[in-house]
Amino acid sequence: MQLYNTLSAKERATLIEEAGLERLTISFYKYAHIDNTSLFRNHLFIQWNELDVLGRIYVANEGINAQLSVPAVKFEAFKKHLDSISFLENVRLNIAIEQDNKSFLKLKVKVRNKIVADGLNDDTFDVTNKGIHVGAEQFNELIEDPDAILVDMRNHYESEIGHFKNAITPDVDTFRDSLDEIENDLAEHKEDKKLVMYCTGGIRCEKASAYYKHKGFKQVYQLEGGIIDYARQVNDKGLENKFLGKNFVFDHRRGERISNDVISKCHQCGAPCDTHVNCANEACHLLFIQCEECTRRMNECCSDDCKEVHALPFEEQKKLRKGKGASNKIFKKGRSEVLKFKK
Ligand SMILES: [Zn+2]
Ligand SMILES: [Zn+2]
Repeated sequence: MQLYNTLSAKERATLIEEAGLERLTISFYKYAHIDNTSLFRNHLFIQWNELDVLGRIYVANEGINAQLSVPAVKFEAFKKHLDSISFLENVRLNIAIEQDNKSFLKLKVKVRNKIVADGLNDDTFDVTNKGIHVGAEQFNELIEDPDAILVDMRNHYESEIGHFKNAITPDVDTFRDSLDEIENDLAEHKEDKKLVMYCTGGIRCEKASAYYKHKGFKQVYQLEGGIIDYARQVNDKGLENKFLGKNFVFDHRRGERISNDVISKCHQCGAPCDTHVNCANEACHLLFIQCEECTRRMNECCSDDCKEVHALPFEEQKKLRKGKGASNKIFKKGRSEVLKFKK
């Protein structure tokens, strides 16, 4: 039985174009106890491959975290399949606002130790003792409360292009770092303030809220469904939008525009810009913000060095890369001395 992709991303893109059918970008997660992760993984792959579902899915003993592209005509069948799995029945699906038929080009279902790389030792606290979930309307009220402290649980490159007004946005590279930083900054307010948190789709807050309660914070709130569902509720219910800029997303769209504010700058020239790119040099791939003019001037690269390498014939680039395994900066996410305008 075929349990892995047989098409390349390019072949898949062509197929999607030719089919001309609308696809939906969807995400969901669920903390649940899964014993046989490999079996579950294979089951999902077989069923979803059949439905022409694409995406990146992590399965672990602690649950599932999925980001998907589903053909609109297959959505009902997909939902029916989810409902047939006891712990996924009626699971909340976050549906992207800006649709893109090519948000994912492969179906990758991976077994991992955790569904989010959180760096936490779970045995030390009760992950089911979560914060209070609030929807968009209540969240809007809550964050105007003078006793509330609003914190963004995402990393620096995410909050840089968009965040809620007046939110604390830790300048961190990982979730683990942000947990510590926020705890230190707010140590005096464990009892008297309301800790209100949000992230992309809600999953990071599930762990973070339980962690902070364990650390002694008395009033902990979390935005249910994260920014993705907040934006949907704001649209559907005509609520005031308190989110500025773009919501960073982990598919090839990179960001979903929530308001027209552009709150960040091109990392190369400082012009207002909130478009993330990866450096075109295969050996670099640095994630950074680049305006259209710099894209042209720098030939899609992050530095003059990368521009030079990128201009070489592919075979020569390969020779240069040989033996320099660690040169790839894909996980450095926007931190590099060459970027003059990265704060
Ligand atoms: Zn620029
Ligand atoms: Zn580069």
